Amino acid sequence: MAVLSGSDTPVMRQYLSAKAQYPDAILFIRMGDFYELFYDDAVVAAGILELSLTSRNKSAAEPIPMAGVPYHAISGYVQRLLDVGRRVAICEQMADPATVRGIVPREVVRVATPGMPFDDLGLDPKTAHYTVSIAQSSGRFGVGVLDVSTLEFYTLPSGSAGEVLTALARLAPRELLWVGETNAVLVGAGEATAALPATNVPAPSPAESRADLVRVFGAAHIDAQGLHHAELLAAAALMRAASRAEPGKNLPWSHFGRGPKVPTLGLDERAQAHLELVKSTDGKPEGSLLREMDLTITAPGARLLRARLLEPLADLSAIAVRADAVEAALADGPRRGLVRLELRRFGDLARLCTKVLTTRATPQDLGRVRNCLRAAATLFELLDGASFAWRWCEAAAPLRVDALSLLEAALAEELPARFGDAATVRTGFDAELDAARKARDEGTQLLLDMEAELRAQTGIASLKVRHTRVFGWYIEITKTHLGRAPESWRRKQTVAGGERYTTPELDELSEQLSGAEEQASARETELWATLLGELSKYSSALYTLAARTAELDVDCALAELAHLRRWVRPTLDASRSLELTASRHPVVEPRVRGGGFVPNDISLSENQRFVLLTGPNMAGKSTVMRQVALTVVLAQMGSYVPADTAHIGLVDSVLTRVGANDRLSEGESTFMVEMKETANVLAHATANSLLILDEIGRGTSTQDGLAIARAVCEFVHDKVQARTLFATHYHELSGLDQTLPGLLNQSVSATEHDGRLVFLHKLRPGPASQSFGIACAKEAGVPASVVARASVLLHSAHDAPLAPLADLDEPSGVSGSSPAELAALRKFRDARPEHLTPMEALFLVAEIQQLLKT
Ligand code: ATP
Repeated sequence: MAVLSGSDTPVMRQYLSAKAQYPDAILFIRMGDFYELFYDDAVVAAGILELSLTSRNKSAAEPIPMAGVPYHAISGYVQRLLDVGRRVAICEQMADPATVRGIVPREVVRVATPGMPFDDLGLDPKTAHYTVSIAQSSGRFGVGVLDVSTLEFYTLPSGSAGEVLTALARLAPRELLWVGETNAVLVGAGEATAALPATNVPAPSPAESRADLVRVFGAAHIDAQGLHHAELLAAAALMRAASRAEPGKNLPWSHFGRGPKVPTLGLDERAQAHLELVKSTDGKPEGSLLREMDLTITAPGARLLRARLLEPLADLSAIAVRADAVEAALADGPRRGLVRLELRRFGDLARLCTKVLTTRATPQDLGRVRNCLRAAATLFELLDGASFAWRWCEAAAPLRVDALSLLEAALAEELPARFGDAATVRTGFDAELDAARKARDEGTQLLLDMEAELRAQTGIASLKVRHTRVFGWYIEITKTHLGRAPESWRRKQTVAGGERYTTPELDELSEQLSGAEEQASARETELWATLLGELSKYSSALYTLAARTAELDVDCALAELAHLRRWVRPTLDASRSLELTASRHPVVEPRVRGGGFVPNDISLSENQRFVLLTGPNMAGKSTVMRQVALTVVLAQMGSYVPADTAHIGLVDSVLTRVGANDRLSEGESTFMVEMKETANVLAHATANSLLILDEIGRGTSTQDGLAIARAVCEFVHDKVQARTLFATHYHELSGLDQTLPGLLNQSVSATEHDGRLVFLHKLRPGPASQSFGIACAKEAGVPASVVARASVLLHSAHDAPLAPLADLDEPSGVSGSSPAELAALRKFRDARPEHLTPMEALFLVAEIQQLLKT
C-alpha cells in the first residue's frame, strides 16, 4: 500500500501503523461513532458488505478509498467478513475523546478470525467452534484443538495423515493453522481440508513450545501428558494464535489435556459421511442420525451428543459407564421428566463462564449464569439419590450455595443488555452505591420540585426541566411564552419550538446531581469488576458443572429416545459376534409410513462372519447394512439401539464402501472413487472391524467388476476375517459359499404381484432367486418397448450367461470342458497339499478321478 499525501495526518498515521502490524487483516479503525476502513480494505469490505465506497481527501490527486459502519453495528459486519474466511482487526479509541486534548490514542484490541470470532454472533449453539492446528515433526503429525468459546484445549496423539483427516472430519473446524508448511498430502486427500480458511504460522521450536505450555499449565501437568514433539508444536502455535486475538490480554486458559483417554471406534471421513451420522448425503443435517436422535435440551448437551456420536468408544468398561447412566435415567421416568423440564432453564454455562473469564460478560450474561445456578439448586434437590446423577450432584454441590448466593446478593432481578444502561447491582448490596444512588435520586426529586415551583412562579404550565447528555439540565419553554421568562434566566440554547435556559440554582443542583450520578456509576463499575473477579474464582467448578450438565442432558435424552422408540440396551463383550433380533434402521424406521418398517434379524459370528447380500434394487440391502453399522455406532457411544435384542462383540472400526460417490470435479471417476474406497477399507480393516461393502465392482465392465468383487470377498474372508456385510447384484458370487466356509448367503426378498413388484424388505437365508431389475425399470417408467426388449435379451442371456462364476473359475485353455471336468480341475487347484495328510491326498486323487470318469 502506497503512503499517499492524504495519509499524512495524525489519524492516518495511527491507521497506517496499526495496519502495518496486521497486514493480513481487514482493519476497522474507530473514529467517533463510526468504524472506518481505508485503502484496499475499504474496497474489499465495501464489496462484501455492500457499503458505499467514498474517499478521503477527495481533492487530492489520489484520494484514499474509504468506507464506514456505525459503531453499534460492528458485530454483524465483522461476522459477515469472517463468514467468507477473512480476518478482521479492530483498532479502538483508547480514551474518551471528550477528555483528551489532542489526538485520541488508538490501538488494535481484537483480531477476529473465522475460528476466533468477534462475539456470540459467530457461534452456533449446537456445534463446537474449533480452530485446529497441524504440525509435523519426525514424520508424525500433531493436532492441536481449541474452542475459544469454551476454552476446551487439547492435542491429539500424533498420527498418520489418515488419522488427521478422520479427526478433521469429526471436529469440523472453522479454521486451520498450518504450523510451518502447508501439508500437500492432507490438502490433496481430504474434503475436510479443502474449503477451510487456513493460515500458515511459524513453527516454534519444541523447547519454546514446551516453555509456552509450561508457563500456563505448569511443568508437572505438561510433562505428565507425554506429548510428542509435533503435539507440542501444534499446541503452542494455537496458544500463540489465540493470544494474538486479543493483543495485550492474557487468555485465561483453564484446561489442557491430551485426548482421547480410552480407545475409540475408528470412523473415518468416509464412514462418517456414508453412514450420514451428522449430515445426510446432500450435506444437510436433516436426514442424519444426529438430527433424528437429538432429544437434548441444552446447547452443550447437543454438542456433547454430536461429539459422542462421531467418536464412539472401543472400551467395554467406559461404554458400560455411559450405558449404566442411560439405563438408570430410563428406569426413573418421572424424575427424568422433571430433570428435562428444569434443564430448559439451564443456559450455555461453559460459554458463559468463558465470557466471565475474558471479562466480556454482560449483565444479562451474569443473569444467565444465575439462572443456571438457580436451576442447579432445584436439580440438586430433585436428583438427590438418583443413581444416574451422582456425578452431576458432586459437581453442583459446591456451587449451588456459594456462587449462587454471590449472584443473588449482587445482581438486580432485571438486568440490562449493556453495563451502564440500567442498574446491574441490586439495592442493598453495597452501602456506598446505595448512598450515591440516594443522592442522585434525591437530586432528581429536587429538580422535579424545582420544575413545579418555576411553573407556579411563571404561570407557564408547559415549562419543563429536562436533561440531555451533551447540554446537561435546562429549563425549556415554548415560543409563545418567551415574554414570560424572567430576566435572571440565562439563555442556553435555541430549539425548534422554543428556548432553553438555565439559572444559578439549576446549575448548582445539576452539578450536585451529576456528582452523585458519577459516584454511583463509578462505584457500580468497581463492584461489577469485583463481581466478575469473584465469579472467576469459581470458574473451574463452573466448567465442571457445565460438563456434567451436558452429560446429564445427554443421558436423559438417550433414555427418552430409548423410551419413545422402544430401543434396548445392547450386550457388549469381547467376542466377535453381532447378533441383532428385530433390528431397525434408526432414521428410516420413523419415516416409513404407518409403522410399516420391516425389522430384520442379523447374526454374524466368528464362524459365519461374512454375509453376502443379494436382492433386487430398492429391496432394502443398503438399509439393512447401514442399520447394522449404525447399531454398532450407537451401542459403542453408550446408547440403546433399535432392536429387540442386541449382542455385539466390540468393534475396533467401521469401514465402509457405499454407493456411487462421484468426485468428477476433483478429477476422479466414479469407479476410481469406488476403488480408492475399497483400497482404504482393505488397508485398514482388522479382524475386529465391521465392513460394510455395497456394490463393489459396479462401475466397470461386468467381467472386471465381478472378478474384483470376488477377489475382494476372498481377501476379506480369508485374510482380514472381519465381520462383513457385502451387498451385490452379481448373483454369481453366491456360489462362493462353496469355497468360503465363513460366508453366508442372505437376500432381501421381493415378489411380483399382478405384474407389479412388491418389496417385502425381509432378510432371508439363501441368495436371491432373481434380480427383478427389469420389473424395477418398468416400475420406474422406462418405456414399455424397452422393458419388453430387455426381457427378451435377459432370457437369451440366461441360455448363454454373460459371466457365470464357472467361467471365471475356468482355468485358461480348457474352454469347452464339461461341468464335471471343471469341478475336478477346481478341486485340484484349490487343494492345499501342505494341509493334507497322505491318506487325505489319496482320497482327493480318487475323488478327482471319479469326477473325470463321470
Ligand atoms: P439398490 O440395490 O437399488 O441400492 P437397496 O436394496 O439397497 O437398493 P435400499 O436403498 O436399502 O434398497 O432401500 C430402498 C427403500 O426401501 C428405502 O428408502 C426405504 O424406504 C425402503 N426400505 C428399506 N428397508 C426397509 C424395511 N426394512 N422396511 C420398510 N421399508 C424399507
